[in-house]
Amino acid sequence: MTYIITSLCLRDGGCAEVCPVECIVPGKPQAEWPLYYIDPDTCIDCGACVPECPFEAIFPEDEVPAQYTAKGGELISRPGLTGHYEGTNHHGDNVVLDTTRALAAGEVVDLTEDNQSNYDYFQKGPGYSSLED
Ligand code: SF4
Ligand code: SF4
Repeated sequence: MTYIITSLCLRDGGCAEVCPVECIVPGKPQAEWPLYYIDPDTCIDCGACVPECPFEAIFPEDEVPAQYTAKGGELISRPGLTGHYEGTNHHGDNVVLDTTRALAAGEVVDLTEDNQSNYDYFQKGPGYSSLED
């Protein structure tokens, strides 16, 4: 099994710093890959990343909610969305995303749609090369 970063991720980056096998990387380019992604083949299922996420975006793969009920106001970030987000990451550096949308209270979202992108980022996308910049 692996852990999955879902579209509730707003690139805080804290998870990547605690991962003991360094298998969490920032997606690039952001418009196409707006999240951080976990390499499913390297993740050792330790769970250390979960409490680090201020947006509760990380789940064990078999617990990613197919029916996530929004508290209201939280953002999802997926390619093609057009909402704007500005915040700061774990280190206080600026984070800007133009692929977000605010969820309405009670809105139900299928976060399992994000499972495949964690695989794709490493199998079809830039993978670990995004750490080279
Ligand atoms: S800590 Fe959460 S918001 Fe930050 S990069 Fe990891 S999954 Fe994304
Ligand atoms: S569960 Fe552990 S090994 Fe897997 S991504 Fe999170 S911190 Fe890394």
